Amino acid sequence: MRNVLPIGIILFLLYIAPSCSTRTSSKKASSIPVEDLRRAAEMYREKAFPVRRFSHADMIPLVERRSDLFSSEVLGQSIEGRDILRLDYGSGTKKVLLWSQMHGNESTATMALFDLFNFLEGADDGFEEIRNTLSENLHIRFIPMVNPDGAEKFMRRNAWEIDLNRDFLHATSPEAVILKQARDDFEPHFGFNLHDQNTYYTSGSSRNPATISVLAPAYDEATSINDVRSRAMKVIVGMNEVLQEEVPGHIGKYNDAFEPRAFGDNFQERGTSTILIESGGYPNDPEKQYIRRLNFMIILNALYQIATDGYEGYSQEAYFAIPDNESRLMDLLIKGVALNDSVSYKVDLGIRRREVEVADPMDYYVAGSIADLGDLSVFYGYEEIAASGLVVVPGKVFEERIDLETFTVDEAKELLRKGYLGVTTDESTTGTLHNLPINVLGTATQIPFGTGLGSPTNFFLQKDGVLKYAVVNGYLIDLDNPETIRWKQRVL
Ligand SMILES: [Zn+2]
Repeated sequence: MRNVLPIGIILFLLYIAPSCSTRTSSKKASSIPVEDLRRAAEMYREKAFPVRRFSHADMIPLVERRSDLFSSEVLGQSIEGRDILRLDYGSGTKKVLLWSQMHGNESTATMALFDLFNFLEGADDGFEEIRNTLSENLHIRFIPMVNPDGAEKFMRRNAWEIDLNRDFLHATSPEAVILKQARDDFEPHFGFNLHDQNTYYTSGSSRNPATISVLAPAYDEATSINDVRSRAMKVIVGMNEVLQEEVPGHIGKYNDAFEPRAFGDNFQERGTSTILIESGGYPNDPEKQYIRRLNFMIILNALYQIATDGYEGYSQEAYFAIPDNESRLMDLLIKGVALNDSVSYKVDLGIRRREVEVADPMDYYVAGSIADLGDLSVFYGYEEIAASGLVVVPGKVFEERIDLETFTVDEAKELLRKGYLGVTTDESTTGTLHNLPINVLGTATQIPFGTGLGSPTNFFLQKDGVLKYAVVNGYLIDLDNPETIRWKQRVL
């Protein structure tokens, strides 16, 4: 008897078995193929945003030109009086809220949202089924650029220097009040909290940058999991699936320690399944244009999976299997290089290049310095050289004064090969930005140089008496094969 099942139970098992198997597998049917996501990202890229730095005034015309597929409303004003707007799309019952740039200098996802708006307004491209599915099932509300005053200066905080993402409880800032109210009024089922993180995070202990990091924020100190948070985790698993196909191994999971002052944690607690996306780094993508494309792809696919309930097929375990973020990257890692004090000794040098703001917030220069030294065997570099036999030597200043207007990159490279690491120019140009691969000295009389922590990084790497590489302000230049990039420097 124990081995014989009643016929009704057998039929029931036969009935549920196929659906069980698709539910625990990747449930491809409800995903958009990655090649389609790629094609859509390419077709609908918003060309008004070629770089990360843009202002509220740059964005507003793009809101105003939206078709009547969108309705928009001003939710309120920032401290300095800039409008914070929402745009709504779709007539479905599942509500999704996406907001970007609570931190003014974290604009990658804002660009991707405008790519998405273009996509939603598209036609005759083979994507009609996707649009119909979204518009029939979802009511999507977008709030791009929550912190327009911060964006104006390309800084993290708002005009009162309050971090909006630590202002949920006190709600001192008008921007925080607006975002909080927007959730309470709309009561979305899902929320996407869109940020950028620094470019030095890796996916686990691998050498891959965490190009995208994800998190289903905790809603309590115990980092408990209820249905609300679990749904967010499953949507993230769907995003991870796209990313593993597009950019394998470049995904990290952000620390889920509960932050009682943050929006994501509180929205999760109030019943909105909240997903944090952090745009990190990718090699040779300083303006994060490839990362913007990844944002577009995973957000569009996630919306589709929410519209179709496709995310329900994923497991929580798959979320926890995403490697944690670790901070293991340098812009440039030079391994085993010889330094000279009273004796010669060898170290690994880890160099990072920081962006420094200038009067024009739409521009910046870079300051390279030694972030760490010693045994850096657990670190990786976006650029890495094994310095076996290489010795750090300082560079010379070229004797003749150059004209900044006419001096060329090729002339600078030629001087580097001759052992010059700096040129002098008119003192009045001090502070001017330039793109030359050499130090340009205005009022400064010496090339900034040191070998200690925090020292500016300007030196040659020499082997057997021959100069092999120049390091100019943290940029590595191979003297045998100097490629041309956009060096972001300023006259010293
Ligand atoms: Zn942020």
